[in-house]
Amino acid sequence: MSERRDAVSNKLLASIPHTARKILLPKMDRVSLSVGDILYEAGQQLNFAYFPEDALLSVGIVVDGHAPLEIAMIGSEGMAGAGLGLGIESATFTKTVSVSGVALRIESNRFKEVLEKFPALRKDLSSYSQSLFRQTAQSAACHRYHVVEQRLARWLLAGRDRSGKVQFQVTQEFLSQLLGVRRVGVTNAASMLQKRKLIRYSRGNLAIINGPGLEEMACSCYINTQS
Ligand SMILES: [Zn+2]
Repeated sequence: MSERRDAVSNKLLASIPHTARKILLPKMDRVSLSVGDILYEAGQQLNFAYFPEDALLSVGIVVDGHAPLEIAMIGSEGMAGAGLGLGIESATFTKTVSVSGVALRIESNRFKEVLEKFPALRKDLSSYSQSLFRQTAQSAACHRYHVVEQRLARWLLAGRDRSGKVQFQVTQEFLSQLLGVRRVGVTNAASMLQKRKLIRYSRGNLAIINGPGLEEMACSCYINTQS
């Protein structure tokens, strides 16, 4: 009887005013997302907004026809489609599922109706967009200054924080695409982290076994983009 019917595991959704959340939730459905699913390509209409629960989304940029390079990640702290709150109708970047899981999804028109009723929500979306922007800027520096081992450690920790998972089904090929390095670079980095007993890696299953040790290995970008 005392169960809160609007309890949600997406932190952004949980942080908005209760009255707005009560209107939003019945308009949403819970969808399963699989690794590799493309939610939007850059320039595509934002038909839906997604609030991940334990799925992880990769914000990617495509340059010269290469596979999308990850510039930010979105998990239970955020959403895909925040631009709708700022009057943006099409995706600025590609959004791909990097870790399978569940998300709450709402049609953009219904989402916009709720935003009309609760204009204060735009402020929440705008602060979230700002943190996403910080991640993209940090990624530019990360690509330039930090080596693959540090970046892989950062990816795993940030993925853990945003999905609540410590095990990821992810191939080296997909990781090399996300990190923008050659596959052999990911292989070497993963085996170095494994040798130090920080992770376990086998057949596309990557598990964090020593979180604090991995934090020491990760570049400063991990701390700088925690929120
Ligand atoms: Zn870095």
